[in-house]
This record gives sequence, structure tokens and C-alpha cells, in this order.
Amino acid sequence: LKGDNHDMSDSERDVERALRPLSFDDFTGQKQILENLKIFVSAALNREEPLDHVLLHGPPGLGKTTLANIISNEMGADIKITSGPVLEKPSDLAGLLTNLEEGDVLFIDEIHRLNPVVEEYLYSAMEDFRIDIMLDSGPNARTIQIGLSPFTLIGATTRSGLLTAPLRARFGINARLEYYDAELLSRIVTRSCGILRTPVDDNASFEIARRSRGTPRIANNLLRRTRDFAEVKGNGRITIDIARIALDALNVDYDGLDEMDNRILQTIIEKFKGGPVGLNTIATACGEEAETIEEVYEPFLIKEGYIKRTARGRQATEAAYKHLGLSAPNDGLQ
Ligand code: ADP
Repeated sequence: LKGDNHDMSDSERDVERALRPLSFDDFTGQKQILENLKIFVSAALNREEPLDHVLLHGPPGLGKTTLANIISNEMGADIKITSGPVLEKPSDLAGLLTNLEEGDVLFIDEIHRLNPVVEEYLYSAMEDFRIDIMLDSGPNARTIQIGLSPFTLIGATTRSGLLTAPLRARFGINARLEYYDAELLSRIVTRSCGILRTPVDDNASFEIARRSRGTPRIANNLLRRTRDFAEVKGNGRITIDIARIALDALNVDYDGLDEMDNRILQTIIEKFKGGPVGLNTIATACGEEAETIEEVYEPFLIKEGYIKRTARGRQATEAAYKHLGLSAPNDGLQ
């Protein structure tokens, strides 16, 4: 998925690590979620119990992994990190669970992509801190129970709608991360510049923030690329002019939409008369996976009011026409 870190070099990964907030006080935004988490964490610490299981949901790059790490830091606990698709067999999960020590955090990213068989095992692990392992099969089949150290499961998902009801019910704490406004993102950019020792003008960090699709990961990525421009084309300082040159060169448009955002809008408008058109049809026409469009692009385009979801598919709004410099047909549009 876009926003993942697969295509990063080692030095970029080091930078990414350096920029990651480590404590609640370092973390910008998501105010309500943070206030609640602070209370739950200090109550659990007072009772000397592990924190209740936490489900974090929201689009990629908003800070789910960062928050999971912060929670474990604040609990003074160790964190083991895995993801839904990696846990193929119950034994993969059992191996992880039996190695947890009291109070440890197990972070499962993309928890909506757990194999259903593996998921079943998670239920008793979460609820009673035990797993039942089946030995042999057929007439010799028997199960043995293994007790686990009390732990905290933190699950992250971009698609909470895909979580099964029994799994969802086992999380005592449930938080939905929202897109960040430009003000908050600008604070994150300024903080990152401080860590990178890159001088930046306020209006330049705001410009980067404003064009980052409400997403800290994108803001930090754009900042790194803008810093390259500042070092090569300028004197190292990120000014508004450097920021504009860099963002234009990176094909981030004035409203912060990137190439794929624009391609999606163009497709709906030019190939399908503004819609409504089904997600799979859009995906094929754009050469992108339907899942990626639904998880990564669409939530932002909907939030910014460029597309609407209707029972018959996705529809471009007047704002989308305007954005592309087209005039909207006045039939059928709101
Ligand atoms: P997710 O797990 O939701 O995809 P991450 O936790 O990996 O997102 O966050 C992506 C990057 O954005 C991280 O490297 C982190 O540095 C940065 N980031 C996310 N949220 C914040 C925040 N609230 N304040 C500062 N930086 C953040």
C-alpha cells in the first residue's frame, strides 16, 4: 500500500525512526484519544495490571504503529510486533504468545487480515490468557491448555468494518484515528525539522502540512524530499519558494492531491460521466487495486468532499469538477 515503508533505503529508515515520537507528550494531535489513553495507562499502572486490549483504526500513516509503541513505552513494557498476514498457522501465533512476559504488548498490524483459524485461537488468549492446542487428529485427538502471561494485545486496522464481531468485542479500548488538520501537521513538520536540524520558515512548514493529505507519514516524506531540494537548489533552508518548487516537482497539487487522487477523479468524470460507478470499475480503469483505493485514497477524497459514496457507486461532486478546472453538469449533482 502507498505509505508503506518497503521502498525506503536504510538511511531513510533511520531518519523515519528518529522522527517517531516516543512518548504521549511527543505525539501531536488525536487529543481525545490521547487523553483517554493516558487515563487508562495510569489506572493500569496503579493497579499493576496489564492495559486492556486496544484496537486502533484509521487510514494508513496516521500513527497507529507509533501509538502502539508509545503505549508500551508508557507502560514500561516490551513490545512484539507482527501483522495479520504473517500469522499463517495457529502455531505461529502460539509461538509468539507463549514467549510473552507479564505485561508485554503484542502488536498485530492489519489485524483484519488474520486467518480465521488463527483468529479463533486469539479469542481465549485475549479473554482468559490461555490457548488450547490440539494434539494429533482423529481418534487420538486431544487438546492441551497452555496458560499465558497476562499481556496487552494492540490491534491496528485500516478497515475496522472487516473485523469480525467476536474479535471486535474482545477489545476493551477502541480508538479511531482521524486525519490531521494543517495546523497540527505543521507542528509535526516543524518538530521533524528540529530533529533533522533543517531550518524551515513557518509558512513553508505550513505549505508542506497543507499538502500532505492530512497524514503525518506523508508530511514527513514530503519534508524529506523538500529538504533535498533546499540543500541542492538553495542554501539548506526550507523557504516557501523551495517548498512550492519541491511539492510541484513531486506532483502534489495545490490542494494536496497527488497523481492517483487526480487520476481517480479524472476517471470518474471523464470515463464515467461523473458516476455513480463501482469501485472495481474505477480500480481497473486507474490501474490500481480496489482495496488500495478504498483504504488509502477514497477516505481522503470523501472527507475533502470530492467524491460521494452512493448505493450505486462512487460519484464525483461539484468540487471534483472544479478541482480539475471543469464545469459540472447541473443534472443529478447535489
Ligand atoms: P500507521 O501505523 O497508522 O500506518 P505510523 O504510526 O507508522 O502510522 O506513522 C507514520 C509516521 O508518521 C511515523 O513514522 C511517525 O513518525 C509519524 N507520525 C504519525 N503520527 C504522528 C504524530 N501524531 N506526531 C508526530 N509524528 C507522527
